[in-house]
Amino acid sequence: MNKITIAIDGFSSTGKSTVAKQLAKHLGYVYVDTGAMYRAVTFYAMENGLIGDKDFNVEALIYKLPNIEISFKFNETLGFAEVYLNGINIEKKIRTLEVSGFVSKVAAVSEVRQKLVEQQQEMGKNMGVVMDGRDIGTVVFPKADLKLFMTASTETRAKRRYDELIERGDQVKYVDVLKNVEERDYLDSNRKDSPLVKAKDAIEIDNSNLTLQQQFDKILQLVNKTLEDC
Ligand code: C5P
Repeated sequence: MNKITIAIDGFSSTGKSTVAKQLAKHLGYVYVDTGAMYRAVTFYAMENGLIGDKDFNVEALIYKLPNIEISFKFNETLGFAEVYLNGINIEKKIRTLEVSGFVSKVAAVSEVRQKLVEQQQEMGKNMGVVMDGRDIGTVVFPKADLKLFMTASTETRAKRRYDELIERGDQVKYVDVLKNVEERDYLDSNRKDSPLVKAKDAIEIDNSNLTLQQQFDKILQLVNKTLEDC
């Protein structure tokens, strides 16, 4: 059977990664969480004192980019690939509200994007991939066989992210999570390089009122139709 490329884009916390993981598992495809890659570079910048509340040394980060090696390793127990920075598992460390607070600034740097987009294109070159992010259907795989654009109300998204962080044991306030979601939406949609926009040929899915199962069924139908057509 043919293998296809599935691009899933959308605003923060729209449940892209949840459905992408479900699809990859169901289809036996590779899942690539590109947000984790931008978070990994951000984590590196934080650890090396290149970004903080007051300043961001963009030149130093660009200079250090060749020292940043990001990889994924499948975790059988979790059922998805965890992200590694220079050989060290940082999957849990990149999901904090602190990393979320800096990541959109790091993701606006063209040199960072260029490096990560190249790696993403390499990872998806053999098809059979579900990739989620902000620019997958527009920049990384503009010829993807199926493009989805996920949306949900800001409050629904902030509540989902807040619940996730609380479940992890992070001490966060809902208002701070909401503020972060709104800030990232704004920065991601308004940056010069590869802003978050819906690709012309992407199918929009508003999941504010869909259960996970309803969402999965709806998307699987689209996948099956795409597979039939190609
Ligand atoms: O998907 P996630 O929320 O983990 O992404 C974190 C951030 O990484 C986004 O807010 C955005 O700034 C950046 N990103 C991006 N392009 C992608 C994926 C993520 O700019 N393809």
